[in-house]
Amino acid sequence: MIWNESYECMGREEMREVQNKRLRTTVEHVYHNSPFYRAKMQELGITPTDIETIDDLVKLPFTTKVDLRDQYPFGLFSTPMSEIVRLHASSGTTGKPIVAGYTRKDLSTWSEVMARTFAGGGCTRNDIFQVAYGYGLFTGGLGAHYGAENLGASVIPISAGNTEKQIQLMTDFGSTALCCTPSYALHLAEAIEEYGVRDKLKLKVGFFGAEPWTQEMRLEIEDKLKIKAFDIFGLTEVIGPGVAYECCEQNGMHISEDHFFPEIIDPKTLQPMAPGEVGELVFTTITKEGMPVLRYRTKDLTSLMYETCACGRTSVRMHKIMGRSDDMLIIRGVNVFPSQIESVLLEFGEAAPHYHLYVDRVNNTDTFDVHVEVRPENFTGDMSSMLDLRKRIEARIQSVVGIHANIKLVEPRSIERSIGKAKRVTDKRNLYKE
Ligand code: AMP
Ligand code: ZN
Repeated sequence: MIWNESYECMGREEMREVQNKRLRTTVEHVYHNSPFYRAKMQELGITPTDIETIDDLVKLPFTTKVDLRDQYPFGLFSTPMSEIVRLHASSGTTGKPIVAGYTRKDLSTWSEVMARTFAGGGCTRNDIFQVAYGYGLFTGGLGAHYGAENLGASVIPISAGNTEKQIQLMTDFGSTALCCTPSYALHLAEAIEEYGVRDKLKLKVGFFGAEPWTQEMRLEIEDKLKIKAFDIFGLTEVIGPGVAYECCEQNGMHISEDHFFPEIIDPKTLQPMAPGEVGELVFTTITKEGMPVLRYRTKDLTSLMYETCACGRTSVRMHKIMGRSDDMLIIRGVNVFPSQIESVLLEFGEAAPHYHLYVDRVNNTDTFDVHVEVRPENFTGDMSSMLDLRKRIEARIQSVVGIHANIKLVEPRSIERSIGKAKRVTDKRNLYKE
């Protein structure tokens, strides 16, 4: 079932017309209502009349996370506070949070794109949604909540954590759809296995996002939970979850491009890149009122596909996020994305999907240790007997990523589980930077 056929399956030319018109309206809106964007545009010597079509987008200024932090809390709002009906914030890792403000219309857009997201995974009003993303300033919980309600489904607003209760309600209420981070899905899967209740569950799909996860991790979750696991993407600065979603083909995420116009740029030269090339994802919101953003640099790395999908949707798709430019580790001069390590580890049947990367600097040389749990069924208690596995993983990382990592096999359940966004990297070198 398709939620909004008129936009998701529109011809590309027709979509371009919609985008042109909406871009013009957005540029007019921010020029007249946002002192921040007006100043930025004046600096570049442009006025709204210079922006007629999407092709003129390149004339517009970029917006960065630093701009949002500098404008904390409300400097990027383009409507009076009296029009803002909701505030969210993204904590990030350092400094002040990034704040987003929504008008009533923005909330309605958000719940529409989230309803599309769930319909994309085959859900309908007959589904029961267990929303186990955190509720609060984080956009995950409330974003999924109103989207599922808009679809007409029944919503269990349980929020993240309290795993035992999650499983109890999942069993008693017959939840059919689960929304949470992939790392929490894995944690829940493990607990479900432990309680031996999988056969009592009605769960059939999951909508997982808010952090990078690999195809290997998807297969792991699908196998353990016996569901179809869909990748969903979004960020607070643009709206929250609902920016892009997978359909049943699970071949790239459809971007709701009638609301969020995507570009891929080279993060160094800032020049647009060709379809299919991997670079930094940039979004311009073309319908938002409260806090529109022009050419927002997400730091997320991916590529775009413009071919019509086998599902019939014509909307542009983005590949799975391979990482964030600021998550990339440079270890002994080699670029390493945590997702590459995750993929390699999960090629080994004996390694569990629970791992942590430790990077440090000793005697001016980077050290790289990867702790990974052994699956309970492969764990003998005698780590020395696992020497061969360790060597095989090290050799594979060396050949795929091009770097030597010290693999340390650890006991099942010794690595901390997460209920929200997982933290899988400890880079102690940062300590010396300050
Ligand atoms: P926040 O606004 O704090 O929820 O964080 C948004 C960021 O989370 C994005 O910019 C991405 O880096 C990451 N993110 C969200 N969804 C996904 C996803 N499906 N895959 C990979 N990363 C994601
Ligand atoms: Zn599709």
